[in-house]
Amino acid sequence: MKIIQNLMSNLKNKLKKIFASTTVINEIKIKREIIKKITSLAKETHPKEFLAFFEGIISPTTIINDIFYQPYIANDKSAFPRLDIPLTTNTIGSVHSHPGPKNTPSKADRRFFRKTGIIHAIIRYPYKEQDIAFYNHHGERISVKIVD
Ligand SMILES: [Zn+2]
Repeated sequence: MKIIQNLMSNLKNKLKKIFASTTVINEIKIKREIIKKITSLAKETHPKEFLAFFEGIISPTTIINDIFYQPYIANDKSAFPRLDIPLTTNTIGSVHSHPGPKNTPSKADRRFFRKTGIIHAIIRYPYKEQDIAFYNHHGERISVKIVD
């Protein structure tokens, strides 16, 4: 049993890696209500950062359907010092806030993007719709279509 479990978890890890390295997203769709959740979560947690996870469907037209927020202890430098990512089958990425004027990923953000999910967003102060930037797991900007 133990051997089979180990084999299975090895296989899962391999599949995850293959998947992460070959799936590059260049364009996504996101529901307007999710955008609203992101802007209000960012405002509520300001001046602290927040971190939440995207749920959705990966397909030729990848769509983000839902977001779940995990309260965590923020420090000034990073939203995720050590975090157990609740990766369910539907978790496809993350969103976090920057209390300053930049929504570009830091070095730590890029490391996190590479390891976790395939779509990531950063929202900067003052947390309006146009302050959100989306990235693929390589940290490259991707275009986003907001749908109702
Ligand atoms: Zn960041």
